Amino acid sequence: MSSGKVLLVLYKGGEHAKEQEKLLGCLENELGIRKFIESHGYELVSTDDKDPEPNSKVDKELEDAEIVITTPFFPAYITRDRIAKAPKLKLCVTAGVGSDHIDLTAANERSLTVAEVTGSNVVSVAEHAVMTMLILVRNYDPAHEQAVGGSWDIAGAAKEEYDLEDKVIATVGAGRIGYRILERLIPFNPKKLLYFDYQGLPQEAVDKLNAASKLYNGKDNIVERVEKIEDMVAQADVVTINCPLHEQSKGLFNKDLISKMKDGAWLVNTARGAICVAEDVAAAVKSGKLRGYGGDVWYPQPAPKDHPWRTMANKNGGGNAMTPHVSGTSLDAQSRYANGVKAILDSYFSKRFDYNPQDLIVINGDYATKAYGQRK
Ligand code: NAD
Repeated sequence: MSSGKVLLVLYKGGEHAKEQEKLLGCLENELGIRKFIESHGYELVSTDDKDPEPNSKVDKELEDAEIVITTPFFPAYITRDRIAKAPKLKLCVTAGVGSDHIDLTAANERSLTVAEVTGSNVVSVAEHAVMTMLILVRNYDPAHEQAVGGSWDIAGAAKEEYDLEDKVIATVGAGRIGYRILERLIPFNPKKLLYFDYQGLPQEAVDKLNAASKLYNGKDNIVERVEKIEDMVAQADVVTINCPLHEQSKGLFNKDLISKMKDGAWLVNTARGAICVAEDVAAAVKSGKLRGYGGDVWYPQPAPKDHPWRTMANKNGGGNAMTPHVSGTSLDAQSRYANGVKAILDSYFSKRFDYNPQDLIVINGDYATKAYGQRK
């Protein structure tokens, strides 16, 4: 008789799992936590069969699961209906950062605990976001296609190629990832770094960026907080989205907000796909309102074959820097979030419930974080 059931939902690794033992985040390697879970008397069921609701293995196993572990990369959407059909469920753990794939309102109503491994992949995502900016601004993809395709049309690639230097770069959300992106941008000598966030950055954090800018580039007061998002996007050459997905950020970048952006700006989103209206973004890239869009997050995931971001392009055939959801699942990040999941489970199994406060999203019927929207 087991103490309870842990349901783990991960993407399939296949041959890759055999080739790379560090690929902890795939179904075959189960975050390296099977023995640990079983040593606490719990049963572990792992699966990649998450869709469609309500006819998947996830639906069946949730009926008597006490803990569910999911990832944002291949999310089992833990909807209100699924929560209602999981009477024993107590703890939802996100292996990674970002728990919007769980209906947090329903989780609060049921007093479930939702915890994630805060900070585990924030550097990985910040690196990916800066890379995506460079890919777009430098018009990398069309040039690379020439290189591997046997052509040599310098003008064709250079007519859309710019430098990141001296651009105004703005982030929506200046938390762990947003701030790390700003830090990494200083050596590129931007004109200004703007941020929009209802939680202001601590003064020391702003001072640190300004001091680095002064040191590297001889420019003071590079960082500015902007009170209204419309005012910020109107000034920015590059906008990067780094806030969680919640009621107030869902569909934020729609036709209306995009129309207020600078003509020919670039938009980078490694936060969550549903913060942007997919069709509105694709139309803006096609019309040239946006010079390009890139990131790794989609809705839903896996993205359907006909998702507009798979094929969107500007009139020169560039402007698309999309990847599948990989930024936060580098091998380095996988090791960190696998360890973090183990620590959360250890706290739960031992009944100490001494979670790292920063890992908690909801607990005891309320939000434990201020990052998921402004609330009373
Ligand atoms: P964080 O909690 O440290 O920072 C989030 C910041 O966003 C907070 O300062 C919050 O006040 C702000 N915010 C919330 N709503 C906002 C809004 N509507 N407008 C402006 N600012 C707003 O979180 P983090 O570690 O920086 O991660 C941010 C998000 O990035 C996650 O919630 C997740 O969705 C996404 N993420 C993606 C990946 C990936 O692999 N692509 C990996 C990790 C995280």
